[in-house]
Amino acid sequence: MNQSSAYAESAERQALRAAVSDLAGSYGRDYFTRCARIGEKTTELWADVGKHGYLGVAVPEEYGGGGGGIGDLAAVCEELAAAGCPLLLMVVSPAICATVIARFGTEDQKRRWLPGFADGSRKMAFSITEPDAGSNAHNITTTARREGDSWVLGGRKTYISGVDESEAVLVVARCENARTGKLKPALFVVPTDADGFEWRPIEMDLVTPEKQFTLFFDDVRLPEDSLVGDENAGLLQLFAGLNPERIMAASFSTGLARFALERATEYVKTREVFGVPIGAHQAIAHPLAESTIEIELARLMTQKAAALYDAGDDMGAGEAANMAKYAAAEAACTVVDRAIQVHGGNGIASEYGLGNLLAVSRVGRIAPVSREMVLNFVAMHTLDLPKSY
Ligand SMILES: Cc1cc2nc3c(=O)[nH]c(=O)nc-3n(C[C@H](O)[C@H](O)[C@H](O)COP(=O)(O)OP(=O)(O)OC[C@H]3O[C@@H](n4cnc5c(N)ncnc54)[C@H](O)[C@@H]3O)c2cc1C
Repeated sequence: MNQSSAYAESAERQALRAAVSDLAGSYGRDYFTRCARIGEKTTELWADVGKHGYLGVAVPEEYGGGGGGIGDLAAVCEELAAAGCPLLLMVVSPAICATVIARFGTEDQKRRWLPGFADGSRKMAFSITEPDAGSNAHNITTTARREGDSWVLGGRKTYISGVDESEAVLVVARCENARTGKLKPALFVVPTDADGFEWRPIEMDLVTPEKQFTLFFDDVRLPEDSLVGDENAGLLQLFAGLNPERIMAASFSTGLARFALERATEYVKTREVFGVPIGAHQAIAHPLAESTIEIELARLMTQKAAALYDAGDDMGAGEAANMAKYAAAEAACTVVDRAIQVHGGNGIASEYGLGNLLAVSRVGRIAPVSREMVLNFVAMHTLDLPKSY
């Protein structure tokens, strides 16, 4: 999908894509699925992507990054996935956590975390979801209270990715407001080895190197500087991190979609059943052509969302990022299903690397925000319809 005419990403962005694609291609889908199947992390790949500066493209230069924007990081994420190496934690550590800390952290927090996010040597998970607060994030009950010059954290989180490979988790909690008794959202960095913090793996029907966990905070005592940003500006800070999350999730999906489409296209050119390549039949060719259009539209919307975010338009980026995430997840689910179908029995054989993408692509419809909640958002904010929930 070359973009060489009137509309094109910058030459730098295109060069970044090509370089990441080459690097990811040297590892490839077989390496990635082998790691996932034997329960290993893709540590070498993550370190290599970090060493080349690709994890840190959006981290400010003074903290060891490339000084680019979320559009650059999203391009990295998409190219990795398109080469069969979708790195889920790219959505979290160098995107949400690095953005929130770069925008709202203290100088000390920035110096402590950003260089490690940029070169891939340090990871941070992100936790907002709770058993009774998934789509309805306003229901979170994990609570932080002040005790002298410490914070004390209590509560529970679920479906949190990558805790076992992270040094800390960025936790969305509510601050107990001693004066009014009201609760307010605020963000805390909690080390994974903190006293009182336990985490347990959730068994998932998802074969990926990254695992999901339930977290338990039992009076976890944290130093004062664990709070990121202002305890009174939590919602604003939170949303500043969630737009990059949606843009990255969209890129993850468009990358997966491109991978599946490429595999399908190659296959239908060579597989002959009734004396001609099956791609000669419109029943095979048209669905793949439709997916090509759906993927390209989703990519364009993702680039628009990233451009708005990088230009500082948080509100505009919110609408575009939701639309991009929706379009990308739908395109990915559809094309994975089509790619499997055109492979016949081979579509489910491990050798062809597509069957497991059914579950992986499906995640994009659920997380980080479900397709229904995106539709609610568009109905309410874009169409100005009454709030339906
Ligand atoms: C693989 C994976 C990794 C994840 N990683 C993380 C992570 O790292 N950090 C983190 O914080 N969270 C993570 N999550 C959690 C994810 O963000 C939530 O699963 C998601 O927000 C949905 O919440 P829920 O599962 O509680 O579903 P629910 O909120 O229970 O919703 C269930 C269904 O009801 C629908 N629904 C609910 N309300 C409405 C309504 N008003 N109108 C229409 N439909 C509605 C939803 O769309 C959904 O289809 C992860 C999830 C998965 C599957």
